Amino acid sequence: MRKIGIMGGTFDPIHNGHLTAAEEVRQRLGLHEVIFVPAGTPPLKDAAKTASARHRRIMCEMATRDNPNFSVSTMEIDREGTSYTIDTIAQFVRDRPDAELFFIVGADAADNFQKWYKFQSILKMCKIVVTTRPGNPLDEGLAAKYGQRIIYVPISDIDISSTQIRDSIARGKFVRYFMPCCVSDYIHSQGLYIGQFEHFKRILQIDLSAERFAHSLSVVDEAEKLGLRHGQGEAALEKLLLAALLHDCAKNFCDERSFAQIKEFCRCEGFALDDFFADAPWLAHSFVGAVRAKAKFGVKDPEVLDAIAGHTFGKPNMTIIDKIIYIADFIEATRAPNDARSHARKLAYEDLDAAMIYILRHTIEKTAARGLPVYKDSELALRNLEENYG
Ligand code: ATP
Ligand code: MG
Repeated sequence: MRKIGIMGGTFDPIHNGHLTAAEEVRQRLGLHEVIFVPAGTPPLKDAAKTASARHRRIMCEMATRDNPNFSVSTMEIDREGTSYTIDTIAQFVRDRPDAELFFIVGADAADNFQKWYKFQSILKMCKIVVTTRPGNPLDEGLAAKYGQRIIYVPISDIDISSTQIRDSIARGKFVRYFMPCCVSDYIHSQGLYIGQFEHFKRILQIDLSAERFAHSLSVVDEAEKLGLRHGQGEAALEKLLLAALLHDCAKNFCDERSFAQIKEFCRCEGFALDDFFADAPWLAHSFVGAVRAKAKFGVKDPEVLDAIAGHTFGKPNMTIIDKIIYIADFIEATRAPNDARSHARKLAYEDLDAAMIYILRHTIEKTAARGLPVYKDSELALRNLEENYG
């Protein structure tokens, strides 16, 4: 009788933990083949956050291609509605009536047996193979409870999960050797799991000049260091990185348009741009940046939008996030070094307010010395800081 292993899962994405489990079980139990069955709509997972069934199926096919005993079935993907294991096993029983079926699951999935739809009926149609999985103790009581149709197979510890892979990719971390290289190459080529930050980065790389893009990334680095130095927690750091990345998102946009065009764009988005910028539209890029971050990138967080709007001139009552973005923009490493920058950098890592006052005074003086008008927000920001600074 042909012995067939069935490996169900979301495979979002498939990784070496899945492949090792399938092959070790196959060898241990003398299975003739193992069929991977990617779930169409998994019952216990959030479908909206899962990569498309097509991507997951393609990754399974790529990962299993070089093992002649492995194959992929699309029966769950092809079936309408939620993917229930009972329907899958029943279909295998119909399609392969003379085979002995072994449904393979890791110790974590076995923990959930009670939640499985019609679990007792599944057990009548196939044996269930429970493998070890790091961090998930085997519940040996299951065999006593459900009888000899549950088989335990200890396998090599491969401490990998798809969740961990998705999170790592979203944070720009290295995942290549957690899965066959063809799968990691596919993930990169399709831009899967990249997360909002990486996604915005790719848009900006096209939207901004090379220098402006490098400057933006350098502001991100500087803002992160300043945030950590000044005790910002995880949530504030996330806002800081987003504001830093997007702070110049309207720079090239403003350089390439007339004041009338920029003002009209702002008006359509519900923002009245000050006529002060009529003679120097490029100076409006911080305000236009906030408008664009909202309209084009869908940013809703007012703290992030305010920090973008205030990064050129400052403003009264600046938050720590506002100050860090303003300062990071001035001191970041790709800007030409000079005495003012070195001094501001030294101050920034000691005292944000002292750095703000120093940079504002320096900028106002330089602007006035060049015979250019100073925008009111800078004067207001400086006065406000001086009044409150001990
Ligand atoms: P996620 O983190 O999204 O839940 P996952 O890594 O758990 O993903 P699934 O697609 O949920 O992968 O798992 C499919 C099957 O493979 C499950 O039975 C699971 O227990 C098993 N499995 C997954 N990773 C491992 C591993 N590292 N070792 C052993 N079994 C595993
Ligand atoms: Mg899982």
